[in-house]
Amino acid sequence: MNDSDWRLSGQEKYLKGIAFELKTWCSYKSGWDHDHCEFCYDKISSLDDCIHEAYASADNKYWICKKCYEDFRELLL
Ligand SMILES: [Zn+2]
Repeated sequence: MNDSDWRLSGQEKYLKGIAFELKTWCSYKSGWDHDHCEFCYDKISSLDDCIHEAYASADNKYWICKKCYEDFRELLL
């Protein structure tokens, strides 16, 4: 992990302490078809060209792709 990683913009301030679990993305409110990784902004969705499985907070408010989760999980503790 590197402090100057382009993906970091202070997310740990609001993500710290939140428990994330690996989930398959699904539409959890009407009209909602995707989320973005909190770090790299990759699209997480059930659509074909998107990431389907990612780490999410219990309320599905925040999503983090697997790669970023592996890279930044220490920041979230
Ligand atoms: Zn990511």
